[in-house]
Order: sequence, then structure tokens, then C-alpha cells
Amino acid sequence: MQQVHAKKFLGQHFLTDLNVARRIAETLTQGPVLEIGPGMGVLTQFLLKNPDIDLTAIELDRESVAYLKEWYPELKLIEGDFLKLDLNKLYPEGEFCVIGNYPYNISSQIFFKVLDYKDRIPICSGMIQKEVAERLASRPGKKAYGILSVLLQAWYDIEYLFTVDEHVFNPPPKVKSAVVRLCRNSRHELGCDEALFKTVVKTAFNQRRKQMRNSLQGIVRKGNPILNNEIFTKRPEQLSVEEFINLTKLIEPCQN
Ligand code: SAH
Repeated sequence: MQQVHAKKFLGQHFLTDLNVARRIAETLTQGPVLEIGPGMGVLTQFLLKNPDIDLTAIELDRESVAYLKEWYPELKLIEGDFLKLDLNKLYPEGEFCVIGNYPYNISSQIFFKVLDYKDRIPICSGMIQKEVAERLASRPGKKAYGILSVLLQAWYDIEYLFTVDEHVFNPPPKVKSAVVRLCRNSRHELGCDEALFKTVVKTAFNQRRKQMRNSLQGIVRKGNPILNNEIFTKRPEQLSVEEFINLTKLIEPCQN
């Protein structure tokens, strides 16, 4: 059977280095696992070899699906869009892990969806653009620190595992890649309104150069004395997850 023809709009860059594929597959060791975007199955083959992993894969590209059915008839495969997949239907109960050499064009959306299921996804690992990996793992005060860093680090410990060069892909992407692993931390609740926490983080980082007194004006009632609190003179990249939680608690009773 012919190789799958790489389609740019699906973010298709097929990994050709089996050693890298094996190392990615080894970032998970057991349990129900969902692979996103298996393509021609370079990771899939290693995941299938692990008897402790119960693998399901979801692939949007019809040509890849045909290829996978031919080469991996034993694979539980869903043809469809991960972003539209009802995970409660696929996994009615219990925990499941997520893995992939992800489609880079939707990597942020994939992580936002993982966050929606954070209490059921203990580990999410795989390969993304290096720049996005740096954002996920970044500590406060760094240029890469942003919305995804805060929202994910509130619930996950993030490991930047290793960097991958562009020429182990066909076709090579324009950017370097990196493998990360997100492991659920022990936090059960934020102690503040979760939806407001997200809004505060997103709104503050939408104007990351500005003091939060200015960028959060739309959320806090005008002229409210809490705006004189020192924390509002800071810029969002200076705040740790804990400080964003405290800020949200402060804002909670004073919303617009
Ligand atoms: N894992 C393979 C392919 C990586 S390229 C490898 O390492 O070689 C990304 C893959 O994700 C492609 O196969 C692409 O078709 C698939 N994909 C893109 N968007 C998707 C979506 N929304 N849902 C599921 N799969 C998707």
C-alpha cells in the first residue's frame, strides 16, 4: 500500500525516526490510552506492543485511516476530529491518558480540551512545537509564560522531556519540536471560581505588557478600591499560579 500523501491543512508531518517514536510511546506505561492523529502509525506500533496499554486512536484523515486499517487491523480506530469527539461517550467512566505526535495547528486547542477533562486525564504526553512546549513548561517572569502555562500548571506538573530536530519528519516542519509530559498534580480545587480564574488569566495576558489595573478594568467594577491593591500594578507574566488564584479571590466579590 502507498504511503499517505502529507496534507498541510491537517498539520501532517510524519515522524520517520523510530527511536524517537519509541521514546514518545514510552512516556506512557499503562491504562486506557487515546492517541490523537496516528497518521501512518509510527507511534501506534509501539503503543500496540505494550500489553498494559489499551489503545484507541482517532484520526481525521481518511487516507491515513485506510492505511491504518490495512497495516494495523487490530487497532481500535475512530475516523473523526478529536476536537469534536465526545470523550464521555468514548470513556463513560474512569481515567484515560492522551498521547500523540500532535497536529501542531491545533495543539493549543487540544490542551484546552484536556483541561476540560482534567479530572479524568492523569497523564497527557506527546510531541508539539518546541515553542509551545516552552510555553507550557515556562515559569513566571519568562517571555514564554502565558495563558496555557498558568491554566495548565494549575492542574498539571509539566515536564519538558527532549527536543526533536526538524529533519526526522517527512516533510520537515519549519520549527523544532519537543516532547512533553503533563502529569496531574494533587490539586482538587482552586479555592476560587474556576470560570472567573480562566477569564482573569486570559484577559490579563491579552494585554501582557500592561499593568493589570488597566487590562482588568472590564472585569472589576470601576472605581472599586481593590484596584489600589499592589497586585494590580503588576504585569501578568510576574504572577505565579497561586498569585492568580489570590487575585481571582480578590476580584470575585467586586465583579462588573
Ligand atoms: N502521529 C503521526 C502523524 C503526525 S501528523 C506521526 O508521528 O507520524 C498529525 C496527524 O494528526 C495527522 O495524521 C493528521 O491527519 C491528524 N489530525 C489532524 N487534525 C486532526 C484532528 N482534528 N483530529 C484527529 N486527527 C487529526
